[in-house]
Amino acid sequence: MTDRVLMFFKDICALPHGSGNCSLVGDYLVDFAKNRGLYYFRDKKGNVLIKAPAVLRDDSEENTVILQGHQDMVCVKEESCDIDMSKEPLRIEVENGIISAKGTSLGADDGIGVAMALAVLDNKELVRPPIEAVFTVDEETGMSGAAEFDMSLLKGRKLINLDSEEEGVVTCACAGGERIDVRIPLSGRTSDYAWIKIEVSGLQGGHSGCDIHKGRLSAIRVITDILGKVNDIDLRIAQFSGGRFDNVICSQAYAVILVNPGDKEKLYSKLLEIRDREFLGYIRKEKMISVDLLSSGQLYDKKGFVLGTEETKQFLNALNNIPQGVVRMMGDRPESVETSMNIGTVEIFGNELKITFSLRSSIDEKRKELREEVSKELSMIKGCTYKIRDPYPAWKYVPSSPLRDTICSSYKELFGKEMNTAVTHGGLECGYFASGIKDCELVSIGPDIDDIHSVKEKISIDSIDRCFKLLVKTLEKI
Ligand SMILES: [Zn+2]
Repeated sequence: MTDRVLMFFKDICALPHGSGNCSLVGDYLVDFAKNRGLYYFRDKKGNVLIKAPAVLRDDSEENTVILQGHQDMVCVKEESCDIDMSKEPLRIEVENGIISAKGTSLGADDGIGVAMALAVLDNKELVRPPIEAVFTVDEETGMSGAAEFDMSLLKGRKLINLDSEEEGVVTCACAGGERIDVRIPLSGRTSDYAWIKIEVSGLQGGHSGCDIHKGRLSAIRVITDILGKVNDIDLRIAQFSGGRFDNVICSQAYAVILVNPGDKEKLYSKLLEIRDREFLGYIRKEKMISVDLLSSGQLYDKKGFVLGTEETKQFLNALNNIPQGVVRMMGDRPESVETSMNIGTVEIFGNELKITFSLRSSIDEKRKELREEVSKELSMIKGCTYKIRDPYPAWKYVPSSPLRDTICSSYKELFGKEMNTAVTHGGLECGYFASGIKDCELVSIGPDIDDIHSVKEKISIDSIDRCFKLLVKTLEKI
């Protein structure tokens, strides 16, 4: 059975299919449906829907199962690799039952999900309900395919997403999220000020979805925390630079603070005192942290705008009041994160200080509440404006789900052990399907895929085999 999955996967690997470049895979899917006389629909965006009737049983439309995966992959390659991934096939290698691509990412995320769905549609011997297979585009670049897919085309109320990367685990919820882009105008001017640079480095960083519960510090927050504890000296922020991505916990940052020359020594020793007092707390969470202070006898000599004294105070207050990290764990799964915040980047550029926040929650209303809290804090900063960007919906956890039970019992029957359930604080396209299809039950599964989105991406054939058996067994039982 798995041979057919591997055959479809190899066909997909032979077609370029980076995000934004899925037309050949789309053609392939359409041809697949045409050749088998199946209903298909391809929307303007490039999403493809294929419908197939029940096999070897009489099933009503209500029992339809939606299988879902994404067509696009993340294209990365080694510097020395000469493949043009926008035009050429991947060079697939198989060694000891492990598939990889020479010099490039493999796109098992999510080529293998697409291949498994095709193998189900293709097979006339599997006992199964009617299938609606949805293959979206551009999952990897913001999920715009799923966002624009017309959910009213679907009759199914049970959806199996095939875009997970861990065998033996069924994912049953994901976070929704959004970014907030903030701009604060700089109204102060540099003049004859002394300066002190504060630099934080050596933190672990990590993904703001997958690593947020690990209690890691944000370098931005360490700086605002220390500066916020100085309350009797006027400060002006002349430079601030921390973080490159909103979805990464900031691992290093620095700021340059201007101060009246007469206050410089006092400020320097105050900062040292605060740093030394707080250091024990920091190092408990981040073993490799260093917090360095730097200054010289020279006055600050760069001309331009800075964050004025009042705005500096307001900015520090707001950033220290806005939570960083986990805001709340889930009530019905206390081991999983419900709501979180990441202060991703702070940058002074031209006449502005810019901040990016990344908010996530597995409950959309909780994310809105957090947004309101942030907006209240930001409204205290003079001249501050902000915009919400790229929101995507959550897939909410439900304590009981017959579909999940079916998949778990199929797993147990096949492999003699319990399947683990998981909720992810990352985003999945399931959020769009969960919010777009009324009363739809969802699960997400997949075989073991290692090092996704990298040139080392690889997948085990045995794991594909077990995952496909699980899918087949589940469909049989539904
Ligand atoms: Zn994926």
